[in-house]
Amino acid sequence: MPASSPGGGTLLCGLADLPEGAARGFDPGGRGHDTVFVVRRAGAVFGWRNDCPHHPGARMNWRKDAFLNADGSLIMCSAHGALFDIETGLCQLGPCLGKRLTPVRLRIEDGRIHLEGPPGPTSKGGTRMAQSHLPQNLNRVLIVGGGIAGMAAAIRLREAGVAVELIDKDPAWSVYGTGITLSPLTFRALCHLGFQDRLIAEGHGHDGVTLNDMQGRLIREVRSERLVGPRVPAEGAVLRPVLHRMMSERVRALQTEVRLGVTVTALDQDDTGANVTFSEGRQDRYDLVIGADGLFSGLRDMVLENAPKPRFTGQACWRVLFDTPKDWHQGQMFLGPETKVGFNPCSPDQMYMYLLESVPGNPWREPDALPAILQDLLAPFGGIVAELRALVDDGREIIYRPLESILVPGDWYRGRVVLIGDAVHATTPHLGSGAGMAVEDALVLVEELSAHPSLEDALHGFMRRRLPRGRLVVGNSLKIGEMEMAGDPMPAQAALMAESIAAISAPY
Ligand SMILES: Cc1cc2nc3c(=O)[nH]c(=O)nc-3n(C[C@H](O)[C@H](O)[C@H](O)COP(=O)(O)OP(=O)(O)OC[C@H]3O[C@@H](n4cnc5c(N)ncnc54)[C@H](O)[C@@H]3O)c2cc1C
Repeated sequence: MPASSPGGGTLLCGLADLPEGAARGFDPGGRGHDTVFVVRRAGAVFGWRNDCPHHPGARMNWRKDAFLNADGSLIMCSAHGALFDIETGLCQLGPCLGKRLTPVRLRIEDGRIHLEGPPGPTSKGGTRMAQSHLPQNLNRVLIVGGGIAGMAAAIRLREAGVAVELIDKDPAWSVYGTGITLSPLTFRALCHLGFQDRLIAEGHGHDGVTLNDMQGRLIREVRSERLVGPRVPAEGAVLRPVLHRMMSERVRALQTEVRLGVTVTALDQDDTGANVTFSEGRQDRYDLVIGADGLFSGLRDMVLENAPKPRFTGQACWRVLFDTPKDWHQGQMFLGPETKVGFNPCSPDQMYMYLLESVPGNPWREPDALPAILQDLLAPFGGIVAELRALVDDGREIIYRPLESILVPGDWYRGRVVLIGDAVHATTPHLGSGAGMAVEDALVLVEELSAHPSLEDALHGFMRRRLPRGRLVVGNSLKIGEMEMAGDPMPAQAALMAESIAAISAPY
């Protein structure tokens, strides 16, 4: 962390440490990420807050010190690609055209660059947390559900200076131990939330999948487009507990009030707020309530009359963790006429296997019976899959889950309560995008809240952007599952998959 300088302010670095044409970020307030950055151009040094005017609180760099576009001529926000003049901070291209970056005052003395004034908002001690930047007087928000959607919303709202209380009914706030695929959509959304470096370090990033036949013979490679930047992998995977740890650490570091083992038992609202009764008997009032309580959402039943119920899709998903073979650097799929099995590296040395099975009657399966059933499903495969099949009954955890889906077709909000994530659009895993959709919901919700003075307009704007995307992801995932169950030809399935990946890669 930079030190206080004797002449006042904060010493950032020596001039020699900032070569001509370079940019560097600094964390003068000890917030755990760079809040200001400096750029050297034509001998002069320019300093800006690391805060995109398009979305207050959004960091601009996609990795340490990456604040400039490819040829170094402009400042670039990696979240939406907005470009800014280095000297004036004026946006020249992108969603905040005409707006400016916020300058910071610098002093160059004895060959050193100092930041003038206080080091900026700090998350430590709570004495200088920013006030809400949102225009609707949203000072207190309750988030019900601390899964991926709820944590993403908490992070974005705290970054926008809003006081957030997050509750989860699980006293241990735990997740089960398997991998989660990060499709290009999911990877991009988590990068935009600020997890790019940790995902690459603690999860696995790659650019595609190798398709093989049942004996492990190569059919072809499928490459995915890099959506975040030329040096950021297109997709990947991460262990669910690792993702949960990353996100929950950020939630707590941003001073979110987290209460576990708690749920909502009653809710009523008027024009100015929502009154909530909790399972411990406490009552409180909030400016906005966000329901992020997953597929079996209780909030959905409380606020959206006539909302559909989750429905079983006819398939179940098997997942098991293995060590990754040394020469596997991306996803692998093995395609049989009835069954496909995939492997996705999700940590520096582990991968998870996923297999979707058609189970029309949704039979109950005793946990003890799972290894033998899975071995039967894998029996037709040769090569490496046959080798891994032999390890399935060695006591490792096998996660079996029948798939259910839901898409709420109308508005996902009533008054001051809005639902996000699986509560309103739970998808099957065919496009690996359920988690990404949950994160996108949170990003878009806070963008729309930032853009509209009226809450109703903001929530309307949120729906306008999210419902078509929910239809796309849930609808196409279900369609791919139906084709698998009907045994449709592989080229037809592959074509719908490719078309879907292209569609979800469009900006959200
Ligand atoms: C088998 C399977 C595989 C999947 N694979 C992938 C994948 O590879 N990639 C991908 O992107 N997505 C995948 N998904 C989808 C992804 O897991 C979900 O879309 C994502 O977890 C949704 O996040 P959420 O926060 O909306 O819901 P959840 O993750 O379900 O979180 C809901 C939270 O709310 C809490 N809660 C529930 N009820 C209450 C209540 N009444 N009060 C308080 N708290 C409550 C829960 O404890 C939980 O913490 C998969 C889903 C399944 C079923």
